[in-house]
Amino acid sequence: MVTTKEPARELVDRFGRRVDYVRISVTDRCDFRCVYCMSERMTFLPREAVLSLEEIELVARAFVNLGVRKIRLTGGEPLVRRGIETLLPKLGALQGLEELVMTTNGSQLRRLAPQIRAAGVKRLNISLDSLRPDRFRHITRTGRLEQVLDGIEAAREAGFERIKLNSVVLKGRNADEVLDLVDFARERALDISFIEEMPLGQIREHDRHETYCSSDEVRALIEARYPLTPMTQRTAGPSRYFSMADSRSRIGFISPHSHNFCHECNRVRVTVEGRLLLCLGNEHSMDLRALLRAYPGDIERLERALVEAMDLKPERHHFDLEAEPQILRFMNMTGG
Ligand code: SAM
Ligand code: SF4
Repeated sequence: MVTTKEPARELVDRFGRRVDYVRISVTDRCDFRCVYCMSERMTFLPREAVLSLEEIELVARAFVNLGVRKIRLTGGEPLVRRGIETLLPKLGALQGLEELVMTTNGSQLRRLAPQIRAAGVKRLNISLDSLRPDRFRHITRTGRLEQVLDGIEAAREAGFERIKLNSVVLKGRNADEVLDLVDFARERALDISFIEEMPLGQIREHDRHETYCSSDEVRALIEARYPLTPMTQRTAGPSRYFSMADSRSRIGFISPHSHNFCHECNRVRVTVEGRLLLCLGNEHSMDLRALLRAYPGDIERLERALVEAMDLKPERHHFDLEAEPQILRFMNMTGG
């Protein structure tokens, strides 16, 4: 008797890691030009190179059918993508998706926070690297601190279950503000994660050797004022969390250099051009856009491709500050 093998209905790679978390970049564009993320003058992709909202929805649906429980929308700045407010409720309604989350620079939240919350987004990550208007301007090149702080207030008013701030810590730029940022988070019962800068894309603004600030250094700065207790509870993300005795706020560290988290990596990324990236630090990828456009609407074919792509997921990333960046993509292309 000939038996045909049922295709796998979940995403498991060669090392037994199950992928249940997908980050989707919905645009390469942004109203900011953060020094570690973009160059000052950027050429953005033509519209036809970018996945349409319908294509993004199909990709998300295929992933959820294959057991993905969490989707993060990112960019570029997801909230500058035209039509994002129509995509969100569709994703929010996907059966089986437990968490729809977003990472934003906060600039559009005064306008959009209530719609985002109503679409089923429960948690929001908002980037905030400095509380000083002039510095904030320097780091983001075009951003206005006041607008982002107002966006954070709008998000609080909209009633998200959790809001987490993300700060990339750079020596000589904002490392002296770590405690101020912690206090800002504590006063508002927000979480905050400190991120080590990753060598993605060539930048001219600073030498990444000189600005690199390890999570251990940041942790020591915080512990000088607030003792931190490691939390055992894991999240689907790469942050390691700590609690403080007298606050609801959690402190997280995202440390791609100093703490390798590859062995428990449960995520993949989809770039704005529909390239499935199996690892942030490697170029292993699959072109989903070509498939989506050759077979529009064919979700079964898409699901088969996603299952096959799992064999491409490498064991670990290879970031190296000593070498020239091997990864020439900027973060806005990849989805941070
Ligand atoms: N525009 C949104 C924002 O800024 O939150 C979402 C996209 S952004 C690329 C996502 C996150 O990646 C931000 O928290 C940003 O600070 C971080 N990021 C960008 N470039 C980075 C780099 N080279 N190293 C570490 N984090 C980076
Ligand atoms: Fe824009 Fe976010 Fe990159 Fe800053 S980090 S330039 S806000 S995409």
